[in-house]
Amino acid sequence: MYADDTIAAIATPQGPGGIGIVRVSGLGSADIAERVFVASLQPASWSSHHLYHGHLRDQAGNVLDEGLAVLMRAPHSYTGEDVLELHCHGSPVLLRQILLQVLRCGARPAEPGEFTRRAFLNGRMDLAQAEAVIEVVRARTTAGAALAAQQLTGRLSAHLAGIRDQLIGLKALLETRIDFAEDEVQIATAHILSTCEQCIEAIRTLIDTFRQGSMLRTGLRVAIVGKPNVGKSSLLNALLGVDRAIVTPLPGTTRDSIEESGDFDGMPVVLTDTAGLRPAAHADMVERLGIERTASKMAAADFLLAVLDASARLDADDLAVLESTANLPQVVVLNKSDLPKMLLENELKEALGERVAVAVSAKDGSGLDDLRRTVIAQAGARSVDTHDLVLFNIRHRDALEKAHHSLQLARESLQLGRADDLIAVDVQDTVDYISEITGGITSEDVLDRIFSEFCIGK
Ligand code: GDP
Repeated sequence: MYADDTIAAIATPQGPGGIGIVRVSGLGSADIAERVFVASLQPASWSSHHLYHGHLRDQAGNVLDEGLAVLMRAPHSYTGEDVLELHCHGSPVLLRQILLQVLRCGARPAEPGEFTRRAFLNGRMDLAQAEAVIEVVRARTTAGAALAAQQLTGRLSAHLAGIRDQLIGLKALLETRIDFAEDEVQIATAHILSTCEQCIEAIRTLIDTFRQGSMLRTGLRVAIVGKPNVGKSSLLNALLGVDRAIVTPLPGTTRDSIEESGDFDGMPVVLTDTAGLRPAAHADMVERLGIERTASKMAAADFLLAVLDASARLDADDLAVLESTANLPQVVVLNKSDLPKMLLENELKEALGERVAVAVSAKDGSGLDDLRRTVIAQAGARSVDTHDLVLFNIRHRDALEKAHHSLQLARESLQLGRADDLIAVDVQDTVDYISEITGGITSEDVLDRIFSEFCIGK
């Protein structure tokens, strides 16, 4: 499916840089090269995928810049169409001039993600791979970039194709039973059921990787909570080795929340230091706003560090913090353990219940390694190695949930001895949901939603 128009966009980020690239895709690419680029060899005679040195010019023949150009002829290009890249010096003004020149020669401005959309429509990649492209570009953590790269190579697609083939085999067995119901063909329900169970298991295993995948993609979101002055800001600084949060001996000085990224044992984390959790009645206006923000940070976090000051007795504010966080995944941090311990063991035990506590000193750094390890273990987070197949796209997770559900219906019907043609419908639904992930079945709406998130030029 080849589009009949030619698209163009600046493919490099806005702002001055070493080089800038204008990218063109479509039938008019070679002609545009002839008109905007002067080289010793005419673009019509260029070898595909070879860089040529020359000059970029405007329609009056004035030289705009010295640069390089490459023509990648269909179908062996990113989009599957003729693609032209014009490399010039990285000046935003110059890039705009060159783009304008290209548009004058008949191209139109590309929509966000349109190059990748064409790549998908021309069969150069499936939808899951196309989505991986945006993930690679946007990755916020090294682990997220590694996951995206894995998906880009088509590993997820290949795995899904395996499950899909098994399901198609399953449906064929059901259809054989339907077609030959009167004959001697006997296909035991137990056999069909066992294939069904295997597929359910494979889909569930994949869905279960999502939590891990989304943590690796965005980082484990950890909020540091506790009453004012227990050392939350100091702890953030000490854990990440930064000095962003303002540390003062006055209670209630972290009025806004502060966010910093780092990693604990290779697992990306985003730490948020929150305003002290003091009963709102005691707080002034600004502090009250900070406290409200703390509540929303806590709701958005995957995990909490509930900080207590080990050099003081537990008080009503500490108990209020522990109570308000009781149902959230957390580790209790007994900070200031460099000072003489005043926390009473029995009081602490009663207040903590099942919660795990780690003694640290944000001041001298003791206990911090132990704390990082405990957080990773308690959060059920672990970094993946490249052999693990991990799901991180919510659209994929949702499609697999639907696939899982319809296959469970099929299993139930098999167990209850319902009609094979009904079961075959559920199996077909499962196949369709899986095909949605790789784009075998898709709608314009879904494509619009996916590609509108891309940047222009990708
Ligand atoms: P926050 O209000 O909970 O963010 O607390 P801060 O991080 O601002 O710390 C409050 C006070 O406790 C500051 O004077 C810190 O220097 C001090 N502090 C924080 N952590 C420790 C620690 O581990 N040991 C000691 N001795 N003092 C600490």
